[in-house]
Amino acid sequence: MTHFATTAVRSGIETDTQFGAITPPIYLTSNYSFEGFGKPRQYDYARSGNPTRSGLEGALADLEQGAGATVTSSGMSAVSLPLQLLSPGDILIAPHDCYGGSYRLFTNLAARGQFELIYVDQTDEVALQAALDKNPKMLWIESPSNPLLRVVDIEKLSGLAKDKGCLTVVDNTFLSPVQQQPLNLGADIVVHSTTKYINGHSDVVGGGVISKDPLIAEKLAWWGNCLGITGSPFDSFLTLRGLRTLPVRIRQHQENTDQIVAFLDKHEGIKQVYYPGLKTHPNHEIAKKQQQGFGAIVSFELDETRYDIARFLEQLEMFSLAESLGGVESLICHPATMTHAAMDEPAQVRAGITGQLIRVSVGIEQAEDLLEDLKKALALSSLPSEVSNAEELSHESC
Ligand code: PLP
Repeated sequence: MTHFATTAVRSGIETDTQFGAITPPIYLTSNYSFEGFGKPRQYDYARSGNPTRSGLEGALADLEQGAGATVTSSGMSAVSLPLQLLSPGDILIAPHDCYGGSYRLFTNLAARGQFELIYVDQTDEVALQAALDKNPKMLWIESPSNPLLRVVDIEKLSGLAKDKGCLTVVDNTFLSPVQQQPLNLGADIVVHSTTKYINGHSDVVGGGVISKDPLIAEKLAWWGNCLGITGSPFDSFLTLRGLRTLPVRIRQHQENTDQIVAFLDKHEGIKQVYYPGLKTHPNHEIAKKQQQGFGAIVSFELDETRYDIARFLEQLEMFSLAESLGGVESLICHPATMTHAAMDEPAQVRAGITGQLIRVSVGIEQAEDLLEDLKKALALSSLPSEVSNAEELSHESC
């Protein structure tokens, strides 16, 4: 197998036989003519398939080392695709702290009887085994999880699931195939919101589902077309364009994150930093074993007795207050009221999402500028007692 950087850059390059275009052209057509009566060509209708989408699907399947991929119109439609393999009565085990949109989809489909649903803290081995003993059909893993960066042992969990004849699906959005390859760890299906790192430029909403087994890949492609949730040629073109620089971007994201985590971790106004790269993170060893890097998302709790959280978020200039993650630009969000607002309060409490929790998606700007911005926003948002303490200190030092 070629290396990630080579696969990402070269996928589909120089495949145009008509004009020898280096970059595969975009096919902006909804339909294709038949060669003759009863003689369809490779593509007939862009929803069921089109060359631009196939190019991206091939690249995703290669990067995740799967047998096939389906590109979808959003990360959520990618999440919904493997769920089509479930029938009423089948059990889905999902993490209690997954992305809020996935939580909303699982909960509402289960409420309508599409499947049975068990939410489990998957780091709790006893609770997980009890759920697996109910013979589920599908185990959903999100590792690292959104927003608390919990990590589970994908190899171990997919092995346990396999023993029960249960499929394992991993949402690999947070790391991308550059930093984690779940199919090689024993998972059956990988899901991505390509909106995030894979496209990486915050200008497309899209998704992808990659399967290890060609029969499952075929079934999911069938469902993608049947439901009409496949990705458009234009979005596929842009996403493949973004994907070409994924390995270089991830390298820079990681370098910047390492510096930001080091700063946050020793700052006395930060109560807790959630980042699997820290030795103090409870799942650090698992992350080290199964990931190639710790990723560029970091969450932390700001001490609300010392800082005005809203003011801190508003004072930042280099971290845009916005949902989403994985773009070249740094973003910051307040999960309780933003990304995870779809979770009701008791579910947020169970998942450990507090009002002080802040999630950062570290971009690829110059790290020094990001650090300066954090320092400035912290200084400008400290509460009066802090200000007066600071004044006292500066008077003392005069
Ligand atoms: N999965 C994860 C882990 C996510 O963070 C998100 C979005 O934030 C999604 C799925 C859904 O993706 P999209 O917003 O592209 O529909």
